[in-house]
Amino acid sequence: MNPKRKAIFLDRDGTLIVERNYLNDAELVEMMPGSIACLRELRDLGFEFCIVTNQSGLISGRVHSHNLEAIHAKIRRILGEAGIDVVAIYVAQAPSGADDFMRKPSPGMLLTAAEEYRIDLAQSWMIGDKPIDVEAGRRAGCRTIFFKQPHSSAFRFEQGFASPHFECHNWEQILNAIKEQAIDAHRAI
Ligand SMILES: [Mg+2]
Repeated sequence: MNPKRKAIFLDRDGTLIVERNYLNDAELVEMMPGSIACLRELRDLGFEFCIVTNQSGLISGRVHSHNLEAIHAKIRRILGEAGIDVVAIYVAQAPSGADDFMRKPSPGMLLTAAEEYRIDLAQSWMIGDKPIDVEAGRRAGCRTIFFKQPHSSAFRFEQGFASPHFECHNWEQILNAIKEQAIDAHRAI
């Protein structure tokens, strides 16, 4: 039997690409500093990548579906040119604050990916710049990284949301946290 795959679930805005607040134009896609080099190293450690993004703007009309497709095509192209393949991009369209299985903090996108792509959630990670990302990762049974940035200070781990396994301030710290865990896991065998 083939071993299950291990994945890194990436929040999109403020984690993989620069936060633009309801991004609706592929021209404005800008990768977060250091992200590409770090994702390449994570790929070499055997991780695959899924993007899991809340896009309530689709319902409210602030984001148009053809623009969303262009944005995701551009992200795939930029990463593809760097040798990084994105297995899948999951989009939760439910409105902000909705109690919806797919919308983070619910774990639906991660659980669906695990089923569709045979991903071992216990060997996987969720990275995001908001507590809802961490909560979704925890509920799915992943290890979690809170990517803390200046705009993250507005978010608090309250309302019963779980704390992250790691708090990092840039992509290099994220890479190092995952690498250390991978080495520890290898030693434990
Ligand atoms: Mg985000």
